[in-house]
Amino acid sequence: MQELHEEEFERTDCLECANCCKTTGPLFTPKDIERIAKFFKMKQQQFIDTYLHLDEENDYVLQSVPCTFLGADNYCSIYEVRPKACREFPHTDRKKFQQISNLTLKNVAICPAAYNIVEAMKKNINL
Ligand code: SF4
Ligand code: SF4
Repeated sequence: MQELHEEEFERTDCLECANCCKTTGPLFTPKDIERIAKFFKMKQQQFIDTYLHLDEENDYVLQSVPCTFLGADNYCSIYEVRPKACREFPHTDRKKFQQISNLTLKNVAICPAAYNIVEAMKKNINL
């Protein structure tokens, strides 16, 4: 999977796509909130009140999608401090990849790179 992931992302230009940022938002962990609020020189609560809300699983998520930090040029305006979930998306290089197969099935519908990686994996194991 690691190899397939690396090969795919050598070909894929995320700046031509940004579908993940346009259609789903990341979870914001306490560390993400601390780091991004600091970047904006905001108090954490002020950052939360401005951009986030608690979802039904009690996780902080964006108030709306497309992500408010996504520019018209598909660049992320908080790239250096972006949430961990954004850095790791689409999670196809996870060591325990098989444990997140449900999440991957969801992500192939959003992410063309994840789709290609899963298709290549299926070919490799003759599915
Ligand atoms: S924070 Fe940046 S990388 Fe994450 S969804 Fe928003 S625009 Fe995309
Ligand atoms: S959806 Fe996939 S290919 Fe598109 S920008 Fe996100 S990670 Fe890159």
